[in-house]
Amino acid sequence: MAKSRFEYVRTYEQDQILLPNTYIVIRLDGRGFHKFSAHYKFTKPNDIRALGLMNKAAFCLMKQISDICGAYGQSDEYSFVLQRRCRLFDRREAKLVSTFASTFTAYYQFYWNEFFPDQPLDATLLPSFDARAVQYPSLTELRHYLSWRQADCHINNLYNTSFWALILKGGETEKEAEHSLMGTNSSDKNELLFSRFGINYNNEDPVFRKGTMLIRDMAKASSATPEPDLKDEMPLQEKSKRQAEREEKRRRKAEIVELHEDIIGDGFWNESSKWLS
Ligand code: ATP
Ligand code: ATP
Ligand code: MG
Ligand code: MG
Ligand code: MG
Ligand code: MG
Repeated sequence: MAKSRFEYVRTYEQDQILLPNTYIVIRLDGRGFHKFSAHYKFTKPNDIRALGLMNKAAFCLMKQISDICGAYGQSDEYSFVLQRRCRLFDRREAKLVSTFASTFTAYYQFYWNEFFPDQPLDATLLPSFDARAVQYPSLTELRHYLSWRQADCHINNLYNTSFWALILKGGETEKEAEHSLMGTNSSDKNELLFSRFGINYNNEDPVFRKGTMLIRDMAKASSATPEPDLKDEMPLQEKSKRQAEREEKRRRKAEIVELHEDIIGDGFWNESSKWLS
């Protein structure tokens, strides 16, 4: 198509390209979910329907974008880990974050009725998500990143479980509950839950305590059918293109597994080669 004399303005567009050979993590977070969760009457401290909907939207995004190897979610946030050699959108940051946020939001809204059948979405308060991309140079930082998010889940959940027990079972006001928890550490909260309310924190639902880890299990993915002999006569470029296509096919067919377990300790990471490549 002929170029117009206006075309030059395109040169003002500046793409931020994410570094090659790094793990890209894209974290989404619900906008104003404090207010959103109150508006739609999420149960406190944890609404299982809302977590189910987050997990559903994340699962659908992983199905659609095969470069995602794993994802971790808790509360109103989800972090997506892209494979190191990912070439999606030529690693353009703006394309990645805007596509992830809008596609996730679309799924969240599409499946809303399935999880909240009695509460239709109200056009004056629709859910939306922001997104950021972070690059990690090695497995160590990636592991520490996911550990950070799960530790955050644990700290917040222990606090919220104690806070809402004091209010809903202990009859305290929000101010009183806040005051009761001031200066308490983890074991104080565990003790308080058990002695005053008979709650053993370790028996709380793992979805609440640990969050959700989704992995694309490549170990179980069937290996592709062998190439016909003809491949030796193909130019190198063609061959690697075919290889990339086969790899892509394998990724699409691989099962996505949902876990609610510890992802900080060695156990989870000893097996990481099956989903991280
Ligand atoms: P921002 O736009 O800056 O992210 P925010 O109001 O979303 O603001 P967050 O720090 O993201 O603030 O906190 C999200 C809040 O949403 C939580 O503090 C909690 O009140 C609520 N929330 C999210 N998920 C759930 C859930 N499954 N059950 C109950 N409440 C939830
Ligand atoms: P990318 O993901 O790179 O943006 P794309 O397929 O969306 O790829 P665009 O250059 O954005 O490519 O072009 C959008 C295409 O969508 C148009 O070429 C046209 O085929 C179609 N399209 C968009 N809006 C309309 C419309 N109102 N009526 C008919 N076709 C439309
Ligand atoms: Mg935030
Ligand atoms: Mg938020
Ligand atoms: Mg949040
Ligand atoms: Mg387009």
